[in-house]
Amino acid sequence: MMSNLSKSVTIIIPSYNEEASLPHLYEALKELMDSMPTYDWEVLFINDGSIDKTLSMIAALYKNDNRISYIDLSRNFGKEKAMLAGFDYCKGDCAVIIDADLQDPPYLIKDMLKYWEEGYEDVYAKRRNRGKEPWLRKKLSMMFYNMLDRSTRFEVLKNVGDFRLLDRKCIEALKQLRESERYTKGLFCWIGYKKKEILFDRDDRKYGETHWNFWQLVGLAIEGFTSFTTVPLRIATVIGTLTALGAMIYLIWTLIKVALWGDPVAGFPTLISVVLFLGAVQLIAIGILGEYIGRIFIESKNRPVYLVETYKSRNIDDKASR
Ligand code: UDP
Ligand code: MG
Repeated sequence: MMSNLSKSVTIIIPSYNEEASLPHLYEALKELMDSMPTYDWEVLFINDGSIDKTLSMIAALYKNDNRISYIDLSRNFGKEKAMLAGFDYCKGDCAVIIDADLQDPPYLIKDMLKYWEEGYEDVYAKRRNRGKEPWLRKKLSMMFYNMLDRSTRFEVLKNVGDFRLLDRKCIEALKQLRESERYTKGLFCWIGYKKKEILFDRDDRKYGETHWNFWQLVGLAIEGFTSFTTVPLRIATVIGTLTALGAMIYLIWTLIKVALWGDPVAGFPTLISVVLFLGAVQLIAIGILGEYIGRIFIESKNRPVYLVETYKSRNIDDKASR
């Protein structure tokens, strides 16, 4: 343990099946920590139910380096929940969240710490590019961010991931947000505090493979909307009202037409398309309702967000009020 005067920094690393990148990550972090010995470092791995050698590798690192701590969750809970576990257990005066796959360059932590020392409380890394992603995914994700931004009261940051430094203040704030359906990217914006952006080029994943498929990304997007805004519900209301208005006008027009010119029976195609269209709109509206009700259902059970199998740690005094 170092002098009591030095500030402590926790590096939070959610890890799921990362056996391929862990050794490289550790090398990079070790280099960084050794180059800044004035800080008290803690590296907090959260093993999110990995089914490869990740846990035993982390345990080996823990044996060799007393700056390392780890939490082993009881199963795979997903990165969002693993991050909350990280906030709950981190001891640092500030914490940096970083992916295990080295897509977030550890050298940026130096710059983050510099801004933190200047008084910023949430120093986030913004991607200058989005790497080699499919064109459609990029377009869709831009659309998603724009829509979410317009429908919330706070600013939703685009091209910003979870890679950031958080002051103890922010960590304590995030620990209070215990919803189990988590959209952490939004929560960072929601809490506010003094923010500072730094730009970087995000590399493609070098080791192992991504854990997100298209549908999981769609799921995350829906999560983003339903946990931060009720605008979709209002859209359903607006569409319903507009359709009702249109139907009224059409009804009046039909009545006038029948009164003036009689009623030659026609218009089966129009009829069937109107019925189908309205049916579809209703189903969509019910679907939107369902998304929200589903969330109410899940949150109302009030289950713990994650469960811990083991927690190992030994450095820096416990500064968190757990
Ligand atoms: N991760 C996790 N639990 C999961 C999936 C991913 O803790 O269920 C971790 C993963 O080990 C990595 C980070 O979250 O450290 C980001 O995952 P990934 O690289 O697959 O996502 P991407 O970079 O493609 O957004
Ligand atoms: Mg990645």
